[in-house]
Amino acid sequence: MHMRTNLITALAFATLLAACGQGGSAPAAGAAASVVNLYTARHYDTDTALYERFTEQTGIRVNVIEGNADQLIARMTSEGDASPADLFVTADAGALWRAQNAGLLQSTTSQALNAAIPANLRDPEGRWFGLNRRARIIAYDTTRVQPAEIDTYEEIASPRFRGRLCVRSADSVYNLSLVGALIEAWGPEKTAEWTRGVVANMARPPEGGDRDQIRAVNAGVCEIALTNSYYYIRMANGEDAADRAVTQKVKLAFPSLDGQGAHVNISGGGVAANAPNRENAVRLLEFLASPEAQTMVSAGNNEYPASPDVPAPAPTDAYADFTPHPMSVATYGPRQTEAQNLMSAAGWR
Ligand code: FE
Repeated sequence: MHMRTNLITALAFATLLAACGQGGSAPAAGAAASVVNLYTARHYDTDTALYERFTEQTGIRVNVIEGNADQLIARMTSEGDASPADLFVTADAGALWRAQNAGLLQSTTSQALNAAIPANLRDPEGRWFGLNRRARIIAYDTTRVQPAEIDTYEEIASPRFRGRLCVRSADSVYNLSLVGALIEAWGPEKTAEWTRGVVANMARPPEGGDRDQIRAVNAGVCEIALTNSYYYIRMANGEDAADRAVTQKVKLAFPSLDGQGAHVNISGGGVAANAPNRENAVRLLEFLASPEAQTMVSAGNNEYPASPDVPAPAPTDAYADFTPHPMSVATYGPRQTEAQNLMSAAGWR
């Protein structure tokens, strides 16, 4: 009788250990423990392969909920404590900051994440981590502009480019983050002057996305355009013959901010504040930060891996030879309102 009790106790203990995820990489007992709910604003053809690979390694199934960043933030806010969200993934440190600022993310302490991701590409408090990188740079008409004319961010706003610049609207988080970075580097006065120069240089009122700005350079509407790196790389290597032709005449230049490198931003993720499957969320985040996953994502969407030790895969490797500015991407979000105000005051719509 005594022995039987011990056996039951031992079995119960083993079950408890398994349920707590102490059994290494084997899937934990119970359906709830083997799932992670991913709220993501990123959708690529390679996603299925990526999540399958994670499930293969961990036994954890990825339940994907898609939407744009603001939709997902609104959804998590309305779901509140009952939100099933485990991991939130989106593009741009400014968008991750919005989630952080709404109290939707919790801090994660992970040796693996801290080792894989450079300190300037993650939140100092671990509420989000950059997983892949992009640069916000210049596409230029090679028949009219020399790369040396646009090797600094100041030059974009200089009088020599009056009426020769294309740029998307001020409500784009990419632009808000860039202006936030400029405020961080230059202070508000010089940045305000820069935004006025940008508006004076606009060849047309802002319209369309980054790809539309690149196409407008080719069409002769303007001679230089602000764009994220991956849009150009995608056009240069994509299915669309007209877009590939655009990239024959239009090339990429990487301006330097204060001689320290090009403005970079990230796509990344953070653990949801009320994550019901918190450990699984951390494991998915760690997987996404692994060299294998950084490479898979970069191969699928033409971003750069976040880690300097992970080489950019083809065809992005052809555009990877630039110096990234070392500024912390966590400085962009808190500058968002100030950036918006400066742009609005300058007439950047
Ligand atoms: Fe984008």
